[in-house]
Amino acid sequence: MPYRPKTILNRHKRPDHWFWTRYTAYPYKGCLHGCEFCYCREKKYAPHDDPQDFAYVIQVKENAPELLWRALSRAPVGVVGTGDYQAAERKFGLSRKMLQVCHDLGFPVFVLERSPLVLRDLDLLQAIEEKAVAVVAFSIIATPDSPGYQRVRQMERLAPRIEKRFAAMEQIARAGILVGTCMMPILPGVCDDDANLQYVVRWTADHGGQFVLASGLTLADQQRDFFFGVLDERFPDLAEHYRRLYPEGSYGPVRSNWKEIALRLRELCEQYGISDRMPRPIIPGDKHTLNKRMVEALANQVYHMELDGEPGHRVWAYRKAAWAIEDLEPDLGLVYRQMGRKGLETIPNVGPQLALVVERLLKGWMSG
Ligand code: SF4
Repeated sequence: MPYRPKTILNRHKRPDHWFWTRYTAYPYKGCLHGCEFCYCREKKYAPHDDPQDFAYVIQVKENAPELLWRALSRAPVGVVGTGDYQAAERKFGLSRKMLQVCHDLGFPVFVLERSPLVLRDLDLLQAIEEKAVAVVAFSIIATPDSPGYQRVRQMERLAPRIEKRFAAMEQIARAGILVGTCMMPILPGVCDDDANLQYVVRWTADHGGQFVLASGLTLADQQRDFFFGVLDERFPDLAEHYRRLYPEGSYGPVRSNWKEIALRLRELCEQYGISDRMPRPIIPGDKHTLNKRMVEALANQVYHMELDGEPGHRVWAYRKAAWAIEDLEPDLGLVYRQMGRKGLETIPNVGPQLALVVERLLKGWMSG
């Protein structure tokens, strides 16, 4: 169903600390991959009233490239989350045209995909990588070796096979583009076992991936009803477990082993020489390189402090300092060279203690 929306670009005040995207822009609504756990069936995201239509009725934003051009040509440079390589892309080619816009205007891109069709645009991703930065992540929540593989395949049966995603990952890595895995959502009782975590990290590392990000399943309103319908019909042994974990109105699970999973993932990533965080895409020569690296370091610290159970006020102090440095116009290195630690302390939300942390990191980078 082609249509012509008035806008395409979602803007965020600051880049998020997972994918580092400042903007998102996608050409299709609805997804032919039809993953049965997909959060996009939630009312606030769903393009259709009936969640059954989500995988079969695709709305095509036929003027997406023009809208993107218009919006980005007036916007400060930042990472654009874009690209949608479901089967509709073969016919309409809008993702490619949108990547071309990002390339021509010098914007970095982040592509999150379940389809190896993204390889069709490898030439363009390489061109973006040369001019700015390109990052690709594959949505993969199990491997063919994983105990829950068959169930995952049944729940995302319209999506391309997982083996093909890993093969595509390898090709993208060989092309010199940062690539990794988004293990999202980790389905309780299906992919949260230790064997699966190990396999996903190992397969990622073996295929040139450099990171594995993970997050849990959320269930809300009509998406929750839809998914419970699937469980009742085809996975009755899971339905009871999920009803206990996700009572009406809960959104996230009421009893979560999330911290254990994330800590184990961190350990496994270290073991395989990759990261449980996505490196921040920064254009070489960006005048805010140091500031951005500092924000990345503090954001990583926030993530790990939360996992390690550090007190909330300490975590918030780091988070607010990261935001303040993101908003800082002058170069952090210049501030430090001219005014020393006292200069760092003048940055909003960076008091004496955080200034020490920032100073230690700066000294390490400057000497390295
Ligand atoms: S590929 Fe992503 S957007 Fe499409 S149905 Fe699956 S989870 Fe949803």
